[in-house]
Amino acid sequence: MTHTLLWFRKGLRLHDNPALQMAIQKATRLMPVFVLDPHFIDPDRVGINRMAFLLESLVDLDRRLRTLGSRLLVLRGQPEEVLAHAFSTWQVGRLCFERDTEPYARNRDERLRSLAQKCGIEVVSPTGHTLFDPDAVLKAGGGRAPLTYSAFLRVISRLGTPAQPQPTPAHLPPPIAEICESPDYAIPTLTELGYTDLEAVNHRYPGGETAGLERLGDYLADRARVAHFAKPDTDPTAFDPPATTVLGAHLKFGCLSARTFYYEVQAIYRQARSHTEPPVSLLAQILWREFFYVLGYATPNYDRMAGNPICRQIAWDDNPAYLAAWSEGRTGYPWIDAAMHQLEREGWLHHLSRHAVACFLTRGDLWLSWEAGQAVFERLLVDQDWSLNASNWMWLSASAFFHAYHRVYSPISFAKKYDPAGRFVRHYLPALERYPDAFIYEPWKAPLSVQREAGCIVGRDYPEPIVDHTEARTRNIERMRMAFTADPSTLPT
Ligand SMILES: Cc1cc2nc3c(=O)[nH]c(=O)nc-3n(C[C@H](O)[C@H](O)[C@H](O)COP(=O)(O)OP(=O)(O)OC[C@H]3O[C@@H](n4cnc5c(N)ncnc54)[C@H](O)[C@@H]3O)c2cc1C
Repeated sequence: MTHTLLWFRKGLRLHDNPALQMAIQKATRLMPVFVLDPHFIDPDRVGINRMAFLLESLVDLDRRLRTLGSRLLVLRGQPEEVLAHAFSTWQVGRLCFERDTEPYARNRDERLRSLAQKCGIEVVSPTGHTLFDPDAVLKAGGGRAPLTYSAFLRVISRLGTPAQPQPTPAHLPPPIAEICESPDYAIPTLTELGYTDLEAVNHRYPGGETAGLERLGDYLADRARVAHFAKPDTDPTAFDPPATTVLGAHLKFGCLSARTFYYEVQAIYRQARSHTEPPVSLLAQILWREFFYVLGYATPNYDRMAGNPICRQIAWDDNPAYLAAWSEGRTGYPWIDAAMHQLEREGWLHHLSRHAVACFLTRGDLWLSWEAGQAVFERLLVDQDWSLNASNWMWLSASAFFHAYHRVYSPISFAKKYDPAGRFVRHYLPALERYPDAFIYEPWKAPLSVQREAGCIVGRDYPEPIVDHTEARTRNIERMRMAFTADPSTLPT
């Protein structure tokens, strides 16, 4: 008789879930648990859209577990404390959880592992969040994480293809009888977690395995779009619907398995006459995720500049007023401000919009640290993902990976290519709704009569540009040149 505790953290799904598969192997009773860890329940650090997404995912997981004769048991408190209590009251003999490679999780899991082992509990912790076991990738790379995407692709080619997704179980062992219907383990509401402005919940696709699989199916239904997907050609100003999958949050919380994504896309490629290739193809996107996960796992202090061996050391400015203007969408550059409003409202931005706002904050215009931008994204993104956020911020700020620092996104002309009439700007910045197309990206250039006619005076109803882009760009390229000369260490090897 084995009482098994299956601890869900990410991996909030029943399909292709190795920890679940291993948990049911020996269990006579299975207790599927989610712990509301105070570390993650903080409205100042986790925006309302992401928390709403998580709660939706838990509700969906509970519903799916119930169809298989089980349920989700939500515990509240420090994982060590609440799980230690559960181990003894439920006479747990086996603990299963998906391996998590982020630093906080690794420390937490190490403590839990030794606690469980002291209690004589067997611990099982398979990889399920990524296509490959990160240790296998490191081993194939000779013990080091590859520093370029092409080197990464070469390394994983030695590992063959990822393991096939595992099926969803047809039924599950029930939890012990006394907790089956207990109201003590209910999923909380946003209000109970300290979130007050419930009307601000506005993320585009709901959380959960059901919604994630549905969104994947909908996006992949357009097979030609999948086969010819080229990331740089997707339109950052498309918002209704967006141009890319918007599956980042489902992948981050593990509502959708990365292997399922991978093999569904592969199935379309097999039927297509031709398809795009890495680094721009749709399949390549899930491999970018994999690449950055391995780097985040292998690199100390990955989410900061100090002590991070792959991050160029740069003397960024400290300017709280600039940072506030950027994060609140008040820079006076409509494309940047509209994107920041989209982020605040919906918790999502297209990849190229992320490029534009990140470049603007760091090496492009404001010369502020990528860590400050990372923190704002960490709060607001629904798909916020520790390794991916840090990697991409280092990339955009030319702190690692990217060396063509003289290429700076223009906050004026870049979006114009995709959206000359400024539909995106008008949608997210209603103050500029009535501006003529000619001035929608540069409202300060409109004659006063035009500003009056549009009902928005620059400097009064919409800010003046916070910096002169041309001057800032020239100055910052020079500062970057000096930073590269002083610290060439992150050039790829
Ligand atoms: C400054 C900055 C910060 C970012 N922070 C995050 C983050 O916290 N979480 C996050 O998931 N992505 C992050 N990205 C990467 C990328 O922008 C998003 O993954 C993507 O825009 C999400 O939209 P999508 O799901 O429609 O992507 P799609 O284009 O549909 O791609 C499918 C999936 O592939 C993965 N992927 C795509 N692009 C990348 C990439 N460049 N790096 C790693 N994985 C990728 C994601 O899991 C994504 O959901 C960041 C990019 C930048 C420039």
